Amino acid sequence: MLVLEREPQVGGAAISADAFAGTGARLSRYSYLVSLLPTRIIRELGLGLEIEIELARRRYSSYTPVPGVGAAGVGAARAGALDGIASAASAAGLLVDNGDAEATRASFARIGAAADFDAWNVFYEDTARLARAVLPTVCEPLLTRSEARLLVDDDILWTSLIERPLGAVITDRFKNDLVRGVVATDGLIGTFTSPGDRSLDTNRCFLYHVIGNETGDWDVPIGGMGAVTGALEQAARAAGARLELRSEVTSVTPDGAVDYRREGRVERTRGAVVLANVAPWVLRELLGAGGTASAVIEKPEGAQVKVNLLLTRLPRLKDASVSSEAAFGGTFHVNESYEQLQAAYEQALAGEIPSVLPCEIYCHSLTDPSILAPELAQAGAHTPHRALTEGNNDEMRAQLQAAVLLSLNSALAERIEPLLMTDAAGRPCIETKTTLDLEHALNLPGGNIFHGELSWPFLEDDEPRGTPAERWGVATSHPRILICGAGARRGGGVSGLGGHNAAMAVLEGA
Ligand SMILES: Cc1cc2nc3c(=O)[nH]c(=O)nc-3n(C[C@H](O)[C@H](O)[C@H](O)COP(=O)(O)OP(=O)(O)OC[C@H]3O[C@@H](n4cnc5c(N)ncnc54)[C@H](O)[C@@H]3O)c2cc1C
Repeated sequence: MLVLEREPQVGGAAISADAFAGTGARLSRYSYLVSLLPTRIIRELGLGLEIEIELARRRYSSYTPVPGVGAAGVGAARAGALDGIASAASAAGLLVDNGDAEATRASFARIGAAADFDAWNVFYEDTARLARAVLPTVCEPLLTRSEARLLVDDDILWTSLIERPLGAVITDRFKNDLVRGVVATDGLIGTFTSPGDRSLDTNRCFLYHVIGNETGDWDVPIGGMGAVTGALEQAARAAGARLELRSEVTSVTPDGAVDYRREGRVERTRGAVVLANVAPWVLRELLGAGGTASAVIEKPEGAQVKVNLLLTRLPRLKDASVSSEAAFGGTFHVNESYEQLQAAYEQALAGEIPSVLPCEIYCHSLTDPSILAPELAQAGAHTPHRALTEGNNDEMRAQLQAAVLLSLNSALAERIEPLLMTDAAGRPCIETKTTLDLEHALNLPGGNIFHGELSWPFLEDDEPRGTPAERWGVATSHPRILICGAGARRGGGVSGLGGHNAAMAVLEGA
């Protein structure tokens, strides 16, 4: 097997990098948490035999400060009073502690959401039941919708999470705006949508965020994401794959001819089967006049900005009742109440950077000190990819970075900027990647982190399932070309599922 990769290393969005020269820190540059990689794939590939794959569970699920600005504040900020956000008080917050249910109950009570604590537990018992039913199917041929529904064996659960907009379930079950927001974020990560979205993109995104590990836990890969990809690379080489780096595929034909550019020359290879790890939209372009890849007709659109920072120490919080280690030990949500998420979406839809940018912050070095200095990774949600152009990307990157820092600072008792380490050249250790940067660096169309819209982990009852490729969810409109990456039916995430399922289809004769 020949693997063609245009970058000097394999791994795509699942790599570790020396992003800041001279600091010795190796960051998970893009993706950072693992939930969807099944133990079955780890076992079958012998991952962890020579290179250890070790995933660490986080004690704290999340911390969310009560926002300093509500809807009125958002309006004021829109009118230009951005500094108001940084100074607004937010001295309480919701800490969800997986190791201490009573402390979590007390935290709900402290933010005035006592009634939502039981609702929270019941809701996540429901999602865990869904996870236990659905996750074991992802390494098998696709079920139909009816079969999946039978398997879940709970019509109310099925209807509420698979058929009704996620927003309706959230607003039915939870009263507190902040609690509603925390729940909704799993439906919005990397997806340009609002909780009330009727196309159910939010529900699909939510489903993949709560079924991993059969619990919805997102684990920290010890040694960074590059350790996971390194183990996969090793397994591929051990199985006889030849990896050609700096080799950019420039065209693919339906009969299996692949042109690629390497060291300034165009070379051609041919495969009985071509497994495409690029996004379906990119495959469509590579096929050119040769035909479409699938039903993808619109270019995907991402919705986030990624910021990596190295700090001298963790910042102090406005909320003195919670330690920084606990708050940053899980997912730290900032300005992600339900109302704020909705307002940010509306602004981004209009092509504006939201005046209060919802953010999620992770500090992996608390769980995995092997990557060295305190490292924060932030994802700002609902950024307007549609407003980015080649001409304004630098300016927009600067504005987005400022919006992220402003939002983060609103939850802190001190500004984060003075805590940034400096690199060998004396520059502050902060790097920001817009959706357009992701398109350039990784060939992710529109900077969409999932290669396109996520699809249900089952087939509609009337969808074709006559070929192995269709049954495994890796088909394109050409029998010799299969999708094997995030754009496959159950792809989208560091999971190996696209590759596993494409391989199974090939073994069954595609
Ligand atoms: C900022 C960010 C954060 C994320 N966070 C998480 C997370 O925490 N957890 C999680 O599970 N998922 C996360 N994801 C999603 C996850 O990283 C992807 O779903 C996953 O990397 C998909 O793997 P892949 O191999 O299918 O595609 P990719 O990782 O996109 O890799 C595609 C590869 O194809 C190469 N390529 C592209 N075009 C060509 C060409 N023409 N010729 C040759 N090679 C080409 C690229 O260089 C790249 O190496 C995140 C993604 C991003 C961008």
